Order: sequence, then structure tokens, then C-alpha cells
Amino acid sequence: MVKAFTPNTLEEALDVLSKNQVMILNGGTDLMVKRKTWSGVVPSFEKPVMFINKISELRSISIKNRTLYIGSGCTFNELNNSLIIPKYLKVVIKEIASPAIRNVASIGGNICNASPAGDIILPLYALDAKLKLMSKERERIIPIKEFIIGPGKTTICSGEILTEILIENYDNKEFYYHKLGTRKATALAKASFIGFYEVENSTIRDLRIAFGSVGPVVISNRDLELSLVGGSIKDTKFKVCEIVGRYSELIRPIDDARSTAKYRKFVSLNLLRHFLLNELSK
Ligand SMILES: Cc1cc2nc3c(=O)[nH]c(=O)nc-3n(C[C@H](O)[C@H](O)[C@H](O)COP(=O)(O)OP(=O)(O)OC[C@H]3O[C@@H](n4cnc5c(N)ncnc54)[C@H](O)[C@@H]3O)c2cc1C
Repeated sequence: MVKAFTPNTLEEALDVLSKNQVMILNGGTDLMVKRKTWSGVVPSFEKPVMFINKISELRSISIKNRTLYIGSGCTFNELNNSLIIPKYLKVVIKEIASPAIRNVASIGGNICNASPAGDIILPLYALDAKLKLMSKERERIIPIKEFIIGPGKTTICSGEILTEILIENYDNKEFYYHKLGTRKATALAKASFIGFYEVENSTIRDLRIAFGSVGPVVISNRDLELSLVGGSIKDTKFKVCEIVGRYSELIRPIDDARSTAKYRKFVSLNLLRHFLLNELSK
């Protein structure tokens, strides 16, 4: 039988983590699928499971000094119902799975599962979000880009738990988002794109671009974005072929059950082209 821990506070959870090798389970919507065996048979876990969905400290949402703090245990429906969660996160959330899954699936689970198709990871990558990780001995804050290092691979250490997601300067963002799945609901992305922009008097003041499902991790490149900041929209339109060419070198999709590498690349670059030619000047 699987041994289970059900801490009610973060302190209890850190204590469990310091004394045991456990598998953290929040909503279980990734873990239960990964651990399923046969129909009608309970999923198999080789380690004790620690349920963290009763820990209220992991479910808070707040703003301090223009930074948005999101508890890792917040479910997607909780985020969607919050008045302080920005529209760009809600638009992404509305396309994740189905309402029933969003009732239990957490933002922390999506990040720690580290799938290149993890939808919430896309805006977090584009905006250089940071993650707070805690263990009994220490806490550290690292960029999400240093946390997710490959499909299903993270730099989480033994005894650590993801507690919070931090988005600095989170507000007033114009954006364009598109997720391409096999159907409208309950579909993982074949490809996804998000572009954030700040334009003042036809000059680009900031630009953030990220692609999902087209590489081992979400694809973004700050140097490339910064090379366009300060330029005019007109200049950017002239340079579209060059920019698309440079992103084409970064995008490395694979063939899998959901789509082909060729289609993924084609559609991702089309979304980028549309963003640069049409959305930026809206
Ligand atoms: C039918 C279906 C449809 C889906 N559709 C989508 C979709 O459209 N888009 C999408 O992105 N995903 C989708 N998913 C995947 C899943 O729902 C999400 O990734 C969800 O956010 C996972 O959250 P969870 O709380 O259920 O994670 P869990 O399954 O509980 O955990 C996932 C992983 O994260 C670890 N973990 C969880 N919380 C923490 C923490 N605080 N600290 C450290 N480690 C932690 C767990 O140990 C595990 O390795 C779908 C899943 C299903 C079953």
C-alpha cells in the first residue's frame, strides 16, 4: 500500500521533506496519468506520496512593489477567479484542459512537470518569471529558465518544494496569444505562441516572444528581443524576413503523436510573422 503524508502547513511539509523521500502531489492530473497501470487498477507509486493541496500558504495571490506573487498550489480555476491575476494569464488558463481539470490542476504542478507543452510556462518564460523554492534548511529564488532544463527535467533539489511564482512588472501588458491543439478543449498544444509588446509613438519600448511545444523547453531569446527594442514598427516590418529566419534557427520541434516537426515549425513562424506584421501595430 502507498504511504501518504497530508501536511496542513508549509512547515509540516518541509519537515516531511527533510526526513523522507516523497513524491509531491498537488492536483495529480499529471502524476496520476503518468503512474497509471491497468484500467481499474490504482496508480503505482514507488515512493510515499505527500499531498500538498491542503496547505493554504501555497494558495495565496498578492502584489508587492509591482511584483505579482502566486502560490504554487493555486489551481487554474482559483487563478481565473482572482481579481488580481492579469488577463494574459487568464486567456492562457481558459485554454488549458477542461473546467473539471482546471478545478484541481495547479500552476506549480504545470511548472514542475516541465513539459514543453505546459501552457502556463509560456507566458512565465516570456516575462522572465522567477520561482521560490524552499527546503527546511534554505530558500532560493531562481529564474524559471534556470529551473526547467529539459522535457520533464528541473533543477529542483531533494527536500525542496516550489512555493511561489514571482512576476516582476506584471501589469499593463499588451499581448497576442495563440494555442494550436487538435480540438478546442482538453488538447495539449501542437504549438503555441505568445508575444508581449509595449509600443509608444510607433516605437517598440519592450518586446517578449515565446514559443511552446517546438523544442525541449519553451523557446525565447532575450538578445533577439532586445535587438528590436527601440526600433520603429515600420523598421520591424521591413526586417520581418530576417527576424523570422533567426527564430527559425532556434525552433527545434519533433515529430510525435500530436503533430509533425515540419507543421509545428511552419505554423510557429507564421504566428510570429502575424504578430510582427499585424498585432504590433494594433
Ligand atoms: C485530460 C488532461 C488534459 C490536460 N490538458 C492540459 C493542457 O491543455 N495544457 C497543459 O499545460 N496541461 C494539461 N494537462 C496537464 C496537467 O493538468 C497540468 O500540467 C497541471 O497543471 C498539473 O498540475 P497538478 O497540480 O495536477 O500536478 P501534479 O500531477 O500533482 O504534479 C505534477 C508534477 O509536479 C510536481 N509538483 C507539483 N507541485 C509541486 C510543488 N509545489 N513543488 C514541487 N513539485 C511539485 C509533482 O511531484 C509532479 O512531478 C492536462 C492533463 C489532463 C489529465
